[in-house]
Amino acid sequence: MVVNSWILGVILGLATTQLAVMATTIYLHRGLAHKALTMDKRVALVFRFIIWITTGIRPREWVAVHRKHHAFTDEEPDPHSPFILGFWKVQLANAYYYRREANRRETVNRYAKDLLGNKLDEKLLDRSFLGLGIGVAILYLIGGWEVALVGSLVHVVSYLGISAAVNAIGHTYGKRPYRNLATNNNWLAFISFGEGQHNNHHAAPTAAKLSFARREYDPAWTVIKLLVKTKLMTVRHAKPIFSPKTGQPSGLVEGASL
Ligand SMILES: [Zn+2]
Ligand SMILES: [Zn+2]
Repeated sequence: MVVNSWILGVILGLATTQLAVMATTIYLHRGLAHKALTMDKRVALVFRFIIWITTGIRPREWVAVHRKHHAFTDEEPDPHSPFILGFWKVQLANAYYYRREANRRETVNRYAKDLLGNKLDEKLLDRSFLGLGIGVAILYLIGGWEVALVGSLVHVVSYLGISAAVNAIGHTYGKRPYRNLATNNNWLAFISFGEGQHNNHHAAPTAAKLSFARREYDPAWTVIKLLVKTKLMTVRHAKPIFSPKTGQPSGLVEGASL
């Protein structure tokens, strides 16, 4: 039945996006980019594999672009600031701005020095299209070509849309409890495994938990807690230390981001 295949394709596409978003925030973002958490090598490999077959992202490129974003947040040369480029350019063409910056060798060499020379990446996992091809093949094996086609399309649109929303909406609309231009949005946090608490994150980039206050939600924290409990992960610190005078996170934590 074509209709059932379409429904299954949409469900699998959305599930793939959630898996990819979870791996992005826990492994690429909190783990590699900010070293807010350290994970068991086997867990890291599982996350690396998920990133490979669901996004084709090369971790050192993602990390470099992201660290540059933190180094120049919302000022030149931030690679994807809505304050510089305009909201819609970032929301609709975030992938283009990401690729443009990731292609700059000097950016990768400068901001991801610690991730250069990974042999497994160089030999196999940097082959983005091979990884994505394996991802599509898995969808095909589950439900045939219609499921693979619909699932892939839904995943591409929703993954790129959510990633763009963190950079565009997450620097434009929402609450700003701390002194930076990024914003907190619970609804965005729900669909992005916590990334929507972006004002908190810019205030304290090395905090492994992105929700700081009551009624702020960070779904990834549940996964992280489970991995910590099973001794497969350690966190640097969950929340930052807040200055009793200003209510802002302490400078010590902020400065340790790179
Ligand atoms: Zn940001
Ligand atoms: Zn970050």
